[in-house]
Amino acid sequence: PRRVFSGVQPTGNLHLGNYLGAVKRFVEMQDEAAELGGETLYCMVDLHALTINPDPAELRKSTRELAAAFIACGLDPEKSILFNQSQVQAHAELAWIFNCVARVGWMNRMTQFKEKAGKNREAASVGLYAYPVLMAADILAYRATHVPVGEDQKQHLELTRDIATKFNLDYGQPGFFPMTEPLIEGVATRVMSLRDGSKKMSKSDASDMSRINLTDDADAIAQKIRKARTDPEPLPETLDGLAERPEAKNLVGIMAALSNRTTAEVIGEWAGKPFSEFKPALADLAVESLAPINARMRELNADPGHIDQVLAKGADKADAIAAPIIDEVYDVVGLLRSR
Ligand code: ATP
Ligand code: MG
Repeated sequence: PRRVFSGVQPTGNLHLGNYLGAVKRFVEMQDEAAELGGETLYCMVDLHALTINPDPAELRKSTRELAAAFIACGLDPEKSILFNQSQVQAHAELAWIFNCVARVGWMNRMTQFKEKAGKNREAASVGLYAYPVLMAADILAYRATHVPVGEDQKQHLELTRDIATKFNLDYGQPGFFPMTEPLIEGVATRVMSLRDGSKKMSKSDASDMSRINLTDDADAIAQKIRKARTDPEPLPETLDGLAERPEAKNLVGIMAALSNRTTAEVIGEWAGKPFSEFKPALADLAVESLAPINARMRELNADPGHIDQVLAKGADKADAIAAPIIDEVYDVVGLLRSR
């Protein structure tokens, strides 16, 4: 059976890209697992958040808020294992083993590091550099078979498979770690910034106008969509007409994802119409889709004690899966255990 794992960093608010590209898919996979069997594990990856040195109190708060957002989006602690990464030791333990498996040459090819480190690469933390190794450990500590993620994580998933392959080979253990499948599916695997059609929508973008946050109220959502960058042409008559128009393509994709339609269906409805009509319709749809999530998040945030309990239970369940796998790993690599 499938074992699904994915994580989101507790840094800042979830945005529409995280929702459409990741969390909405997590919920679909949770509901599929309820029918088909298998487990779904969804993690607030707080150790990853440390790579950008957040304020400690903020980090704790963001971790609880991310858990609330997960639940508000439809993840159910009775159906999925919801937990924060640092409460399960396996992640950090396996990451060290994998640091010794992964090669510097592989890490030097990681494009996200280059983007996030910026010009002054020498000053970036070693954690930011090693981040994809920790991500491989997150996944393989559970021998996860499937990982739903946005397009930007494709390269990190390939690294995960490279690490698994080398570990299995080096230690003569064929099939010890599975070849995890990335699930990069749907019409919104790469939602772009509302200000710049060449950049992905991101939590770490300095401009709040570049993204729609799940915490935004109706006015903020409407304003951000109204001000979203577009070209002056009306919507094209056919899908091909979107090819050289990244901003238009992005807004059509967002509408398709929010209304569970294909981009072709959206173009069919809006062909030849101006953005002055399309944008208010998109804003209404976004508000209608996000308002219930927003309201539920507020309720959940009012009771952090409840969230802590959910995360404690989730961590116990996750640990029960991962700890025996780590024991096996320690034996395989030759670490002496006398207690
Ligand atoms: P940061 O900019 O700090 O890296 P982020 O917005 O990329 O934040 P992450 O926590 O790194 O958020 O990613 C969580 C999940 O959301 C991942 O599966 C990632 O692929 C997905 N994701 C992030 N941005 C987008 C986007 N613009 N479109 C679709 N999916 C996205
Ligand atoms: Mg990211």
